[in-house]
Amino acid sequence: MDGIRLDEWIEDTPPRCPRCGYDLRGSPSLVCPECGLKASVGELSREAKRARREAMPFQDVNWRVRCGLAVGLGAALVCLATRWAGMTGVMLVVGAIGGLVTTGCGAQAFRARGLSEHARQFLRQEPELVLAGVVTVLGLLLMVGSIWLA
Ligand SMILES: [Zn+2]
Repeated sequence: MDGIRLDEWIEDTPPRCPRCGYDLRGSPSLVCPECGLKASVGELSREAKRARREAMPFQDVNWRVRCGLAVGLGAALVCLATRWAGMTGVMLVVGAIGGLVTTGCGAQAFRARGLSEHARQFLRQEPELVLAGVVTVLGLLLMVGSIWLA
């Protein structure tokens, strides 16, 4: 029998087929029943490591979305204050840079949604898409709004 022995499997997510992502837990052999690929335990383990690496940049995605919210709100206040003080140039720079950073932070959550299903198993938290949407729109409003107010 050449099935996956649990004592050989040390990764913290179930083994998945490197080609089609099929969950091979409890599979009687190392041949994927979905696509027919025969993989070694080593290959399955490498696939799990690859998926973990893919997920790594997104582990703190919700924290980054909150940072984006803070940057966006701060930049909005600065824009309003500089507009009120007649410093249009400063307002445009703050609106552009603040808007870009804010939009970038919000967009992280949507990029995390595009991870492979296997990689998503390694995410410690689900991306908060509603908040991320608000932050992304706030960033766009900052850029458009500062130009509009100038
Ligand atoms: Zn497969």
